Amino acid sequence: MTTRRRFIQIVPLTGAALLASRTAFAANVEEKDPQAAALGYVADAAKADKAKFKTWAAGQNCGNCQLFQGKAGDAYGNCPLFAGKQVSAKGWCSAFAKKA
Ligand code: SF4
Repeated sequence: MTTRRRFIQIVPLTGAALLASRTAFAANVEEKDPQAAALGYVADAAKADKAKFKTWAAGQNCGNCQLFQGKAGDAYGNCPLFAGKQVSAKGWCSAFAKKA
């Protein structure tokens, strides 16, 4: 088999593998997801529905929430309330619990 033919066979497979690995990463929580909507999750804490969720306070965000499982400085991380998806470190929901 020629190198060129082999290259032509490999490139689409590699692209498909990269696409598959990308989709294997956890998707981000969508604000319109039922669980997210119920908890008032927003990707930008400043946009929280403060009238509906009275527990909101300035400075609260996923990044300083006890349930946030990302590392310090991560833009996104897992949250046990949204299994298989990631929340924005700048996000917020009504289950916020200040990190100790
Ligand atoms: Fe963010 Fe905490 Fe709500 Fe999870 S529980 S979405 S980390 S504020």
